[in-house]
Amino acid sequence: MNPNVISSPLHILNTVFGYPAFRGPQAEVIDTVMSGRDALVLMPTGGGKSLCYQVPALALSGTAIVVSPLIALMQDQVAALRQAGVAAAFLNSTQTGEEAQLVRKQLRAGTLDLLYVAPERLLNADTLSLLRDASINLIAIDEAHCVSQWGHDFRPEYIRLGELGQYFPDIPRIALTATADGTTQQEILYRLGLNNARVFISSFDRPNIRYHIAQNHAGSARDALLRFIRDNHANEAGIVYCLSRKRVEEIAAWLSDQGLTALAYHAGLPATQREQTLRRFLDEDGVIVVATIAFGMGIDKPDVRFVAHLNLPKSIEAYYQETGRAGRDGLPAEAWMRYGLQDVITLRQMMSESNADEAIKRIEQHKLDAMLGLSESTACRRQTLLGYFGEQSTEPCGNCDNCLTPPQMWDATLPARQALSTVHRTGQRFGVNYLIDVLRGKTDERITQLGHDKLSVFGVGHAHTIDIWRGIFRQLIAQGYLSVDTEGFGGLALCERCRPLLRGEESLWLRQITKPVKISRKTRDR
Ligand code: ADP
Ligand code: ZN
Repeated sequence: MNPNVISSPLHILNTVFGYPAFRGPQAEVIDTVMSGRDALVLMPTGGGKSLCYQVPALALSGTAIVVSPLIALMQDQVAALRQAGVAAAFLNSTQTGEEAQLVRKQLRAGTLDLLYVAPERLLNADTLSLLRDASINLIAIDEAHCVSQWGHDFRPEYIRLGELGQYFPDIPRIALTATADGTTQQEILYRLGLNNARVFISSFDRPNIRYHIAQNHAGSARDALLRFIRDNHANEAGIVYCLSRKRVEEIAAWLSDQGLTALAYHAGLPATQREQTLRRFLDEDGVIVVATIAFGMGIDKPDVRFVAHLNLPKSIEAYYQETGRAGRDGLPAEAWMRYGLQDVITLRQMMSESNADEAIKRIEQHKLDAMLGLSESTACRRQTLLGYFGEQSTEPCGNCDNCLTPPQMWDATLPARQALSTVHRTGQRFGVNYLIDVLRGKTDERITQLGHDKLSVFGVGHAHTIDIWRGIFRQLIAQGYLSVDTEGFGGLALCERCRPLLRGEESLWLRQITKPVKISRKTRDR
């Protein structure tokens, strides 16, 4: 028994937090760290990670240090703890010298239960010597996936947290995150030096979130978004994610013109405006924030009813984390996404252009492939999503688009071969729009000049709409049959992977968007 135990965890839970019982693995996690062993806790958003360190902080004598990357979140947590009568404080850049001085004094005097510290603060010489003189009972590292270099939230200041084990070898450490696939878990353990940690993985299922993922086609994603909000979420709070700042501003302005309360949020806006947007989102009803991924981590609003994506995220981890901001109160919520050919091209290009190590690139590539797989999948989205995090669920969920409206498929093998053949015959250097023009037999000066109107593929695809062709190219790129050039012109080239399809050993099935036009006999004979 740890001699520093001054109260039982359950007693703390009941009296300080007012809850009757621990949830999921909380009790076991708490036991683990109170017995002096390190832990890595993976729990979905809203799962109750905070209590995993707040309870031991109070049950043991001394002060717990909590590393948290977000100042706003830190302040909210400290305020909530103080209301519950807990002696909590923080050290961050928003404080005056005097305020920080007072906190240091309290720490030295041993009157603090919890001290929240920003990561860049923690490892400076002053703070370290302060902590060495204090009586520390636990070090908690929140949002631990920020240490992952190829993760989507990498924070350089997290890397040095690995040194904590050397400075405080006898103090248990607990790392927590709501998003980490197998690779990221290993990386967290390695970088934080948690060699003997017990790993706790709770189910990642968020049963109250209904997933929808669809491709852009005729009509714009913007209109589809408006319809989705009007029909399902009038006057409800939501987040709309876009890839670029420019697009964020456009969409926010446009939704506002349509009479919705939509505010833009991205890292390029002044801090005061961002804070005001966040406050309105938290305090008012029915505010929609249109944002880049800069908005989100740690946003603790329980009644976000929808999260919409107008672009494809880079990984399932990012998608899961962003959509996870919906429905933290457990009531029905929706995750809605529209994406298109251009997303696939842009992401593929970004990855091949990056200067990262080959090993890192391979991992990023793999993560993107998994995200594309989820998006293009015709199986239950939840099964695919949970499967990615290593959870096997046997039953389709009944609460995703594919379960609710099983997609109709059509055999696109022939047009897919025609598309590949067109890429080949035009010299593997043209972009999608040009290739589609050739396939559909467009009369165009450039095509004539290059003599591509003489190719056997010219016009073979006239029976399919541009949308259908874009869908075919999207699949071909998504599934690695075609690669996108790195010069930024979007030229497509064949990959090794396309041989079986060309040879007729593989087929390509596509989700039906509109009724595909029957391929005429004449076309088929060519
Ligand atoms: P996370 O950090 O994992 O996203 P939080 O720690 O913010 O989740 O907890 C989410 C909500 O669940 C909070 O309102 C919290 O008070 C509540 N909660 C956590 N554990 C319990 C419990 N054992 N019993 C009841 N409510 C709990
Ligand atoms: Zn499902």
